[in-house]
Amino acid sequence: MEQNWAGNVAYQAREVARPRTVEALRALVAERSRVRALGSRHSFSQVADGPGTLVSLEELPDEITVSGEQVSVPAATRYGVLAEFLQERGLALANMASLPHISVAGAIATGTHGSGDTLGSLSTAVTGLELVTASGGLRRLWRGDPEFAGSVVALGALGVVTRVTLSVRPSYEVRQQVYVDVPWAELVGDLWSVFASGYSVSVFTDWAGPAQVWVKSLDAVTLPFEPADGPVHMLAGESVAAVTEQGGVPGPWLDRLPHFRLGHKPSAGAELQSEYLLPRESATEALTRLRAMSPRITPLLQITELRTVAADSLWLSPAYGRDVLGVHFTWKLDVPGVTALLPAVEEALLPLGARPHWGKVFHTTRVAPLYPRWTHFQELRAHHDPDGKFTNPLLDHLTTAP
Ligand SMILES: Cc1cc2nc3c(=O)[nH]c(=O)nc-3n(C[C@H](O)[C@H](O)[C@H](O)COP(=O)(O)OP(=O)(O)OC[C@H]3O[C@@H](n4cnc5c(N)ncnc54)[C@H](O)[C@@H]3O)c2cc1C
Repeated sequence: MEQNWAGNVAYQAREVARPRTVEALRALVAERSRVRALGSRHSFSQVADGPGTLVSLEELPDEITVSGEQVSVPAATRYGVLAEFLQERGLALANMASLPHISVAGAIATGTHGSGDTLGSLSTAVTGLELVTASGGLRRLWRGDPEFAGSVVALGALGVVTRVTLSVRPSYEVRQQVYVDVPWAELVGDLWSVFASGYSVSVFTDWAGPAQVWVKSLDAVTLPFEPADGPVHMLAGESVAAVTEQGGVPGPWLDRLPHFRLGHKPSAGAELQSEYLLPRESATEALTRLRAMSPRITPLLQITELRTVAADSLWLSPAYGRDVLGVHFTWKLDVPGVTALLPAVEEALLPLGARPHWGKVFHTTRVAPLYPRWTHFQELRAHHDPDGKFTNPLLDHLTTAP
């Protein structure tokens, strides 16, 4: 059977179906008793798996259409492909994740995000959804519909999304400048100014030594840190051919906002990832606690990335109702080691209001208290999927946890 991108999840599903038309997809969903939609398989958690049929939409027609300030894309479209399509028409997305390889439907289903004080997660660009329901019907939802805010970050639990409508804006240029050897105390002392210094800012740390700051800005900005003297990969030893253009040279948004280039391997490949999104007011305390855990964290870590994400109103979004700092860990591919460490990381972060990223590895099952609209989401599921066609073991655990 197939596995996820990182190879840490071997899918339990009995089959992977690849329908070529929406009609065939609808018939398949109506017929099968258990169905999970599969994106580009980049999640590290068990969120995409299921015990019955996995459905890949990669062979559905791939037509992208633009109407005014909206683009309608087939669910399996990868962000990198969409970005090139938009750029050719003088259009752009407001933000991208670190990699352009992921599918639109898979990313928005988990609240995937980039960085930016004023930028919401990729899910916040969604203005419309078309999805196949449990009975094989086709349902369309638009921003403003009462159920919309519960249906975007939906973990595949409300049906198989076939098309997504996203808001777009005119194309723009971005500069990317990397600063190295940034002293930790200086960084933390001025954390919010650093994040406010650009359109999209990422900080990389190993929790022991100095940090790197990657600033993606619309105009030329200079931070009081040491600029890198050439291209930099955030992971020591990885090829700089994989990272997007740096050095403060202005260029198209799609060639600067993701850290990685589409035709290259993103990140390390042999890795696990976890991420916790914390309300800004808890961020400094979270960083202090994690820095104190460095002797346990650093040996298992490849790199940590810190990013900011603006608040939104999507019920299961980790940024629901609050501006957040995302504390991300790219771990070594040491499943027992990471599994043993995560409870301690969560003991430090969950009491501070952290919510785990749905698509990355986490330990807790007690997510319900973290989401004010959790019960409403369960009501949506019960209404649209009364027989549990779209559920999976992870969702079952999260739903039944005390
Ligand atoms: C190298 C790397 C870098 C990453 N960088 C970032 C980052 O910068 N920011 C960030 O937030 N995350 C990041 N991630 C995590 C990743 O973006 C998320 O896990 C995302 O959900 C993956 O999308 P996917 O298309 O691979 O979906 P999958 O992992 O295949 O599926 C994810 C979820 O989406 C659902 N889904 C997929 N397609 C559909 C559909 N058609 N209808 C309904 N539900 C659907 C699945 O059922 C599942 O629940 C990274 C992952 C990797 C491997």
